[in-house]
Amino acid sequence: SKENFYCTSRREPDLFHHSVCGLYTSTSLFPALWYQTHQFLDAGSSRTTVYVYEWPAEKENDTGIVSQTFKCDVKGPGISSYEHNTGALAKPLDECLNKVKERIPVHLHKSTSIYLGATAGMRLLRLQNETAANEVLASIQNYFRAQPFRFRGAHIITGPEEGVYGWITANYLMGNFLEVCGKNACFSLTWVHPYRKETMGALDLGGASTQISFIPEDFEENFNYTMQVKLYGYDYNVYTHSFQCYGRDEAEKRLLALLFQRSSYLVDNPCYPRNYETALTVKYFCGSLCTQSLRPANCYPNQSVIFHGTGEPGLCQEMVSLLFNFTTCRNQEDCPFNGIHQPKVKGNFVAFSGFYYTINALNLSGHFSLADFNSSMWFFCSQSWAQLQLMLPKSEEIYARSYCFSANFIYYLLVHGYNFDAGNWPQIHFQKEVGNSSIAWSLGYMLSLTNMIPAEGKLIQLPLKP
Ligand code: AMP
Repeated sequence: SKENFYCTSRREPDLFHHSVCGLYTSTSLFPALWYQTHQFLDAGSSRTTVYVYEWPAEKENDTGIVSQTFKCDVKGPGISSYEHNTGALAKPLDECLNKVKERIPVHLHKSTSIYLGATAGMRLLRLQNETAANEVLASIQNYFRAQPFRFRGAHIITGPEEGVYGWITANYLMGNFLEVCGKNACFSLTWVHPYRKETMGALDLGGASTQISFIPEDFEENFNYTMQVKLYGYDYNVYTHSFQCYGRDEAEKRLLALLFQRSSYLVDNPCYPRNYETALTVKYFCGSLCTQSLRPANCYPNQSVIFHGTGEPGLCQEMVSLLFNFTTCRNQEDCPFNGIHQPKVKGNFVAFSGFYYTINALNLSGHFSLADFNSSMWFFCSQSWAQLQLMLPKSEEIYARSYCFSANFIYYLLVHGYNFDAGNWPQIHFQKEVGNSSIAWSLGYMLSLTNMIPAEGKLIQLPLKP
């Protein structure tokens, strides 16, 4: 229970004595895990990442001061990929957890809580094979029960939760819920609700799903798409939607399956760089639930398919457009694609995770015009494979072949999907962290689970002047 979390907080002589450690994996499935005491750790989907967060122990002073002090990417794929080999989950996790153990004083291990939250990769696996998903979760549970930390459970979170926790993280880190009110403004150092400060929308591009969350212009009656959150005594009605299979990796698999459908075992891919060539097995792109409807009848999972890059940005965009269904909305108002209700986007947005990585590869940062985005995308997509390898750092090589696809996908999603246009595109800020803290749903999840953002605002001193 929430009360238990408070019981675990202890007074220590040093400043940071109360913390949670979370481990989070990303991409095709998204487990997040965290524990409590000196730090925090969290886990996700195409890969697992461990985060350590710290904050001062006294509950009254906790608000607004959680910071990420450690991050560790677990080697290998996300946990859903271990469905046939759950025994292999432990080793890569060990490497990160050993580093976490070194950072948290031994006497605090027992009181440090660990939670694991899984996202779209595990949601998909559960839909495809519930037993396999349960087995993966069971092995994770066994693994963490054997650790010295206080294991608080491994759960698959829902798409709307993922969306809202991302929104909470972004706004928390940006100081949109609370900000430090210095002596001049308040006559004492305290945390206050920012006067007339708008929240930002959150755009998260994971490997298997993508989330959009924001406060619409008008109050939304549609409770299928609205999450009500009460933070520090203020109510927020957040529109949120998670598009399953519209994560970067799953969307690309859908593209490969579409191309395969058209030309069988030697396939030209206009989104891969010119002269790039790779052999992929059919099961790589057809084994996913997201490509089920695109699978040809004569599909041999272990057969190799050669994909040959032609680097044609115009054709790539045409293919990417086929991943979106604009007919299901049939001219309904506030329904841009896939039959999903969405009010008009409003205000500033922060776009993180896969959005950020792609923009960074295009050599863009922060916010910029749609025209700049388009010309960078065109330039990038026109490079040959040899040129791209010279342009990008070595560490980016595994993602390099896919950036042209990702850029086109992001363009289509944001412009034709969410209805951003040249006017409000510059209001999207592509950013991966604030200070040293990553913008990811995991922090918001941890803050909510540990009741670090209380619903009531009675402890918060209000500003003395507007
Ligand atoms: P994550 O933030 O781990 O959920 O990843 C979101 C998407 O970005 C996934 O499709 C990952 O494959 C991709 N991704 C993760 N790290 C990087 C990186 N360093 N560069 C490019 N893409 C990445």
